[in-house]
Amino acid sequence: MSASREVIERIKKLRETINYHNYRYYVLNQPVISDYEYDILLKELIDLEKKYPELVTPDSPTQKVGGKPAEGFLPVEHTPPMLSLDNTYSEEEIISFHNRVKKALGEESSYTLELKIDGVAVSLVYSDFILVKASTRGNGRIGDEITQNIKTIRSVPLRLITDDRRLKNLEVRGEVFMPKEAFVELNKEREKNGLPLFANPRNASAGSLKLLDPKEVAKRNLDIIIHTVPQSIEGIDSHFSMLKILNKAGLKTSSHTRYCKTIEDVLKYRLEWENKRKNLPYEVDGIVIKIDKFSHQRELSSTDKSPRWAIAYKYPAEQATTRVVDIVPQVGRTGIITPVAVLEPVFLSGSTISRATLHNADEIARKDIRIGDNVFIEKGGEVIPEVIKSIPEARTGKEKVFEMPERCPSCGSKIVRYEGEIAYRCINAGCPSQVKGRIIHFAARNAMDIEGFGEKLVNVLVDKELVKNYADIYFLKKEDLLPLERMAEKSVNNLLNAIEKSKGRSFDRVLFALGIREIGSHTAKLLASHFQIMKRLQNAKYEELLQISEIGPAAAESIIKFFSDHENRMIIKRLKEAGVNMGKEEKKETPKPLFGKTFVLTGTLSKYARDDVTRLIENLGGRVSSSVSSNTDFVVVGESPGSKYEKAKELGVKTISEEEFIEMMSNIKMQNSK
Ligand SMILES: [Zn+2]
Repeated sequence: MSASREVIERIKKLRETINYHNYRYYVLNQPVISDYEYDILLKELIDLEKKYPELVTPDSPTQKVGGKPAEGFLPVEHTPPMLSLDNTYSEEEIISFHNRVKKALGEESSYTLELKIDGVAVSLVYSDFILVKASTRGNGRIGDEITQNIKTIRSVPLRLITDDRRLKNLEVRGEVFMPKEAFVELNKEREKNGLPLFANPRNASAGSLKLLDPKEVAKRNLDIIIHTVPQSIEGIDSHFSMLKILNKAGLKTSSHTRYCKTIEDVLKYRLEWENKRKNLPYEVDGIVIKIDKFSHQRELSSTDKSPRWAIAYKYPAEQATTRVVDIVPQVGRTGIITPVAVLEPVFLSGSTISRATLHNADEIARKDIRIGDNVFIEKGGEVIPEVIKSIPEARTGKEKVFEMPERCPSCGSKIVRYEGEIAYRCINAGCPSQVKGRIIHFAARNAMDIEGFGEKLVNVLVDKELVKNYADIYFLKKEDLLPLERMAEKSVNNLLNAIEKSKGRSFDRVLFALGIREIGSHTAKLLASHFQIMKRLQNAKYEELLQISEIGPAAAESIIKFFSDHENRMIIKRLKEAGVNMGKEEKKETPKPLFGKTFVLTGTLSKYARDDVTRLIENLGGRVSSSVSSNTDFVVVGESPGSKYEKAKELGVKTISEEEFIEMMSNIKMQNSK
């Protein structure tokens, strides 16, 4: 079917409109239409492009996700090279930079001050206003081409929204980063799925940009801030005015950037952000001081390594020193063995720390951390404490090099390391540590939520061989439990009741509880709503799984592998026999009175647990978001609310107390039951 002129015009108009709203939403954070209206526009465009595939262009907003997985990354040469900045660590060094510059220029210069985001440097090339190439910094001269991955970042415009001819062919450089909250969520999800954790948001960003499948990158919630244009542009004579022009053209620049004229103002900015940066949604580890005038920049020029017209100042990290008492290998639920440092307890950023992750054996070797070493540990934001480096000067000679044991500390079977993998694993499915881990996961609050069925009890039950897998939980008898320590008649009854109650948990929770690798609670929901009953999921083919949006090859493979395992099938059969919910086919739609409504929770709720509130809202068709925007409908405010409450007031979003929320829910329930 060939498209009429009306269709071509409509598609063009839709793209412009959607690009504009993307800009309002992701770059300026000032949306002017609701998510719902936006979705309708996007849907119309998707439908038209499906009908007329020949009209799809690379800059269409539909092309943000959906590229094919890459085989690898092609090299890209940077001209001019992407230099790194010299770092400074004190006020004196900033002042001496100022004096050096003043002397070289023979006059005072003005500055542009930027926050230094702890992310990954990238280059974006626009040709004819369209994003055509994006690459990592690499070694500064040659990086990797990651265009498809960069396109998935929502604040990256695929087409500049300007007709300024000077910007027609443009290279910009900036920093890709993962917001703190997205980082915490990602690690939580990875922990649940038995995948190795990222040490910090920067590593997570770098790792995400190097994923081969753009669909996976799209899930990582990366963001970008543009801060540099490597070429000169006619009529623009200062860095600060350049940034403003970029922002108007649709590129995301930082709203915290400041222009100033004196060194005193530079020092004030440094001081001002030392604490304020901790409230930002992303990691900032310093400030960048740039000479503002391009003529001055050219005069000062660059060395081989770094420009002479800019420096970075880095805030001191929150570190402490302590001693590594031991390094113990821990076996997780999926068999990955993580070395953990046992530390002499030390107080750091508000908490006492006695354990820190060492990630993996390669990291230990790279950092040369030995048992008995004095070490620096660091904790940033909500990041797990990490051992940064050892202090070799303090060694006595009694320190011991850690060696990954040849056999699993839990079951004694041989540890393996697959080719190309960093992690060491115990691959014995019957390994007690893994068995325990799987059962703990199964009974956990966000899974089957069996009250009283925690780590301690699981350890006892597995050690006494009363439970060998999670299906056994449902065949426990009173006489099994009564002889156990601290198990009186009443607590045994409570436990058995809790076990009984868990049989009715929703199907998606049951799926999540199975502990299939790569299947977090979100994916479990997708699977549950697609397949509705266990049997259908069990028999699903790889291709069918891939057709579900958001399910990638890794998850699909993992599902197939899980259900083709004989033992797993037996366990599921027994769960079914016990009466655990195996899903049912939905006949009628339950009413969704909260459809389209977005809630944000802040502070401590006294009557409900957060998980429960979230489930309640989702069951009624609403959505719970982790951050407040002008699209938020309600902010539920509990005891001692955080910054979200302030944000809500600032944006004029409706706030309700816990009592009001409960009342709202009971009103809805009454209406539903009518
Ligand atoms: Zn083992």
